[in-house]
Amino acid sequence: SSNRTFFVGGNFKLNGSKKLITEIVERLNNADLPSDVEVVIAPPAPYLALAVSLNKSKQVSVAGQNTYVKASGAYTGENSVEFLKDVGAKWVILGHSERRSYFHEDSELIAEKTKFAIDSGVKVILCVGELLEERKAGITLSVVEKQLDPVFAKVPKEKWASDIVVAYEPVWAIGTGLAATPDDAEETQLAIRKYIATKIGEAEAQKVRILYGGSANGKNATSFKDKKDVDGFLVGGASLKPEFIDIIKSRQ
Ligand code: PEP
Repeated sequence: SSNRTFFVGGNFKLNGSKKLITEIVERLNNADLPSDVEVVIAPPAPYLALAVSLNKSKQVSVAGQNTYVKASGAYTGENSVEFLKDVGAKWVILGHSERRSYFHEDSELIAEKTKFAIDSGVKVILCVGELLEERKAGITLSVVEKQLDPVFAKVPKEKWASDIVVAYEPVWAIGTGLAATPDDAEETQLAIRKYIATKIGEAEAQKVRILYGGSANGKNATSFKDKKDVDGFLVGGASLKPEFIDIIKSRQ
């Protein structure tokens, strides 16, 4: 049991339409959401303003899926944290495994993006996680530590708990239907928290939310309920469906 507010993120990835975004936000509007949950939905950039304008739930806010390290200028195709703020989005997902693998973003760039977002007043869902080969090789923790290290170098200790939520997303669990077991997630997430404590101190580390991500759904979410270092979920596929509400209610 912790004082950390349960957090559920919905990463829509490259999926959406005015119709789908409207359906999802209206479903959230009409659901009787627990008052003590924080929900953040991340539609594709062209739909951010629509999602913000439709949202009526005080527990729900909106996130971008990626932003750049500049506020504006000659960077064709990039997205700015200033645009997010302008349309009322409060968060951005950074370091998602799909950005790391398909778009070759390294941990240094992701740390720069994280610092830039936080300095601009946009909070960050920072994704980390190992590949299947890395888990098999027993190097999960060192992989995650190396992903986090450049962020510790750039973001001051006192900003972590307030401005960063860490999403532990083992790559082998993303989109595969093979979620980590609650025990495996807890083991890794406890170790991540201990590592964070070595960098920002035990008291601050106790305040940082650490989410599990990777094939979380309406059925398996409740099985993580008693895992004390699983402070919520980052949800991909299931965030587009009605079961997203079940995940949000999974701590009740
Ligand atoms: C994700 O992309 O962050 C994710 C966890 O995806 P899925 O839930 O579909 O595995």
